[in-house]
Amino acid sequence: MRSKKQGAYGKIKTHKEPTLKQLSHIDEVFAAVTYLYVKPLKSNLDTPYIRETFDADDLAFCDEILVKVSRSFAAVIRQLPSTLLVDILVFYLVLRALDTVEDDMTSFASNEVKMKHLLNFHKTALADPNWTMDGVGEGDEKRLLQQFDKCHRVFAKLSDKSRRVIVDITQRMATGMAEFVGKDLGQGTVDVDQYNRYCHFVAGLVGEGLSRLFAASGLEKASFASEVFLSDQMGLFLQKTNIIRDYLEDYVDGRAFWPQSIWKKYSKTGELGYFTQQNDPEVQTRSLECLNELVTDALELAPDCLLYLSKLGCTEIFRFCAIPQVMAIATLNSCYNNADVFTGVVKIRKGSACKLILRTNTLDEVHDTFYQFAQGVLNKAEANRSQGVLDPSYSRTVKICKIVMESTAAGHVRERKARQLPWMASLLIPAVGVAASMAMKGNAKGTSKNLAVLGLGAFTLTSFFMPKTSDLKDSKFLENDN
Ligand code: CA
Repeated sequence: MRSKKQGAYGKIKTHKEPTLKQLSHIDEVFAAVTYLYVKPLKSNLDTPYIRETFDADDLAFCDEILVKVSRSFAAVIRQLPSTLLVDILVFYLVLRALDTVEDDMTSFASNEVKMKHLLNFHKTALADPNWTMDGVGEGDEKRLLQQFDKCHRVFAKLSDKSRRVIVDITQRMATGMAEFVGKDLGQGTVDVDQYNRYCHFVAGLVGEGLSRLFAASGLEKASFASEVFLSDQMGLFLQKTNIIRDYLEDYVDGRAFWPQSIWKKYSKTGELGYFTQQNDPEVQTRSLECLNELVTDALELAPDCLLYLSKLGCTEIFRFCAIPQVMAIATLNSCYNNADVFTGVVKIRKGSACKLILRTNTLDEVHDTFYQFAQGVLNKAEANRSQGVLDPSYSRTVKICKIVMESTAAGHVRERKARQLPWMASLLIPAVGVAASMAMKGNAKGTSKNLAVLGLGAFTLTSFFMPKTSDLKDSKFLENDN
């Protein structure tokens, strides 16, 4: 779990591109407009099954708090099929509540007290319908704990299978969190094993729980319940990306995760804070080398993530899984060789995020996205090399980029061809318009305006009529199969 709210980086600068530059990416503006007005992720929360099964007030609280703690995640959860949506909503809130306990550094009398709360969480929060907790966390997270009984009542209405999954994952995650409570993370994790172990507890287990919930819903094959390894890799990919991006914030908080066995090779002082001294040219070089090794380590998870995605059969579940993954690879590409990581938070443009979200309907679209960002990293690595920079991870970076690009090339080529069609149509339709208006001897002023409208209309409409080949099935067909 990564509970840091987007935009909550109070003391640290956010590196965003100015609006004018955002506007120059015209296809991203189109994507933003389409996302906002044409086909936003639809919400399945208001469906007969959900209305009949859960208490409206309790569910409204869960939904409201979800939007508050994670706006972007709320949209991805709400578009899930109604028979799975609430299970995952509750799973998320339970883990978020647990995470709030883990993250609170001031409210507990001692580490032992915090550990006790973590280790008992599945026996208190998930067993006692009246359990609540006061004074822990801040804002909406504090409220989630204060009114956890509402969340519990929704949890209690879930199927036995789903509840068992949620209890099991909560207990194992809490055990892992408790293991790290007493550790001083001011200088990060000790080595890659410990880094992986922490990521497994807080994110890999989420992946495993989700796979088991997918299987329990009957919307995905029962075999998903045992896709433990690939599910874990999915979580690690997201968690490592966030840890890389949040270097400065975590360092300032005194709770860092970059593994010492990697960063100590680059820090001349043996201090994690060494990399923040960006006015020294030697620090600049060394910090980028360190960053690039960590980005490469994370990218090496991408092939397993792509394999996991290829096994999914339900469109909505596919999007639910694919959206965070495409965001992660976009973030890794932005972070690669980017010194901004050491002076603030690197964020991807809003328009760019919308474009990524819109292109998660098929495996081909996701492959195309992975291809482009792997190519982005590869190009930066090559550019560096051609300028005489000798990055120690260079060959390892090139190798993994090429592996990702090879396994996604076919989808990339198909998508590129598909993208060219709307543009060709947008050139053709105005031409037809010109012919028509000339035939009708329409006035000259109106013509150019009509042309623009026609062209724009063609651009927007053709993508809706383009046939898409995909093995994915919408949940409505899958639910009927049962
Ligand atoms: Ca946490």
